[in-house]
Amino acid sequence: MPELPEVEMVRRSLRRFRLRAPVTRVWRSRLALRTGEAWSRSKERVQRLKGWRPGEVDRRGKYLMMRFHREEMAESCLLLHLGMSGHVEVCHANEALEDHTHLRIFFDDDRELRFVDPRRFGGVRFDARGRIEGSHPISSLGPEPLDRGFTGLLLAAQAKGSRRVIRDVLLDQRVVAGLGNIYVLEALYEAGIHPATKASRLRASAWERIATASTGALRRGIENKGTTLQDYRDASGATGTHQHALRVYGRGGDACDRCGATLDAWMMGNRTAVRCPAEQPVVRGRWVS
Ligand SMILES: [Zn+2]
Repeated sequence: MPELPEVEMVRRSLRRFRLRAPVTRVWRSRLALRTGEAWSRSKERVQRLKGWRPGEVDRRGKYLMMRFHREEMAESCLLLHLGMSGHVEVCHANEALEDHTHLRIFFDDDRELRFVDPRRFGGVRFDARGRIEGSHPISSLGPEPLDRGFTGLLLAAQAKGSRRVIRDVLLDQRVVAGLGNIYVLEALYEAGIHPATKASRLRASAWERIATASTGALRRGIENKGTTLQDYRDASGATGTHQHALRVYGRGGDACDRCGATLDAWMMGNRTAVRCPAEQPVVRGRWVS
């Protein structure tokens, strides 16, 4: 599933296309995409894109926000979530259509933006920018981990003394935006914290290490242009290489790069967790600093 670094790479690649010509036509497949709060076919409103000109592309957490302009009208925004397997591509309108294409936005310069998503957990929504930013999911998101003000203190305050395990707290988009299982496990390894540690047991020093390690893990992911396990690629079709640099995710049973211990993998909830048993020990009933 694309996490912050992958979505950031998509954002950067979309910007490079400098789409500016107005939308002439929109095509949407008949199949449903993401559902749930804030997502439904009736909220998509993508047919209303006709006549709007694309502008800057923003990102918030794992969401892409493409701004659109039109004379004398308030700015609008196309909200895009890539789900598990979605990707966007910009191409010429005569290029062959991939299977599982669900949205085609045609521009007046013969180019087209396509949204392709085999598993259909991704979602799209077009609305006034203020309404997109002021409503769920964007308004519910926690702070951006790459922002200057992101610290252990802020992260601990966001977690509000949660009794949940730290892995799950970091996955909660209301606590911090953009992290998923890959980068959370990498960050906890760097911080030397067992993924199943109760968040309420963490001292300030441990929160600082987790915040720093999270930022570092995300930055390395971006430097390596994202993690491509199966579907991820940016809007020009480029894949990432960070899958080769992962220290723990997907490496259960391998030797730890740093100490040689055998990495331990197990199911935690419905996702795999991995840790180095030597560097991320089990701690019970005491504070973790
Ligand atoms: Zn180790």
